[in-house]
Amino acid sequence: MIVTRFAPSPTGYLHLGHAYSALGAWRAARAAGGKFLLRIEDIDRTRCKPEFTAAILEDLAWLGIDWDGAVRRQSEHFDDYTAALGKLEAMGVIYPCFCTRAAIAAEIARAGSAPQGEASPIEGAPLYPGTCRTLPVDERLRRVAAGESFALRLDVARALARTGPLAWEEENEGSIAADPSLLGDVVLARKDTPTSYHLAVTHDDALQRVTLVTRGADLFIATHIHRLLQALLDLPVPRYRHHKLLTDARGKRFAKRDKALTLRALREAGRTPDDVRALAEG
Ligand code: GLU
Repeated sequence: MIVTRFAPSPTGYLHLGHAYSALGAWRAARAAGGKFLLRIEDIDRTRCKPEFTAAILEDLAWLGIDWDGAVRRQSEHFDDYTAALGKLEAMGVIYPCFCTRAAIAAEIARAGSAPQGEASPIEGAPLYPGTCRTLPVDERLRRVAAGESFALRLDVARALARTGPLAWEEENEGSIAADPSLLGDVVLARKDTPTSYHLAVTHDDALQRVTLVTRGADLFIATHIHRLLQALLDLPVPRYRHHKLLTDARGKRFAKRDKALTLRALREAGRTPDDVRALAEG
């Protein structure tokens, strides 16, 4: 049975791009007599707001989208992610990184390599130059014990040495060879945040038995890392469909800051759910 999902982060109101994404996943599930799940990815407690979560549920219902089972809110499941992180730690594939953003930028500038400009939710994260990867164990322990703030990063090379080459099935494209090094040693958790997007999304898609992950093409690059996490954590591998991103008349991607194109604003302007479905799916 096909199981799809829509997994927004409640950092703002849903816009037409979200409607397109949610409708695509919902239609794929409903057409096949499968399940459509709704998951709220609210691990970032500073940017996510309960009022946006409430608005997401309301806007989707208004649009005529129904979901199966309970809504999973990631902020209620930090223990799950901590457990997954513990498994990776036991495998020796994560390490504490004490670098500040400024230190990473300086190191990149010194090495003369350009930062990566990835898209949301991994936007702007520079490729980590690996400064803390080789710190001696006693120094790591000393700095953690001294209360220094740190991030836990995935040692991609070590992880890959364990798993060997990996691939995933992309709808309409076939097998894609995973190259997790594209994003470098990504952050999987921080001292005060027990998970990152990469870990939580991979964990939850497996836990919720999602068989088809449909999401924007901006997240295609993240799938290289997700595939590696699946292999490490012995998780099932869904199929993927990375869909096009809706753009405005000038070819710019819709973003939460485009207030006029939020479902809320369109509804207040008198548009019906039918209108909005037509606008989103064109
Ligand atoms: N929560 C992510 C976002 O709102 C999407 C995650 C996903 O679909 O994998 O951008």
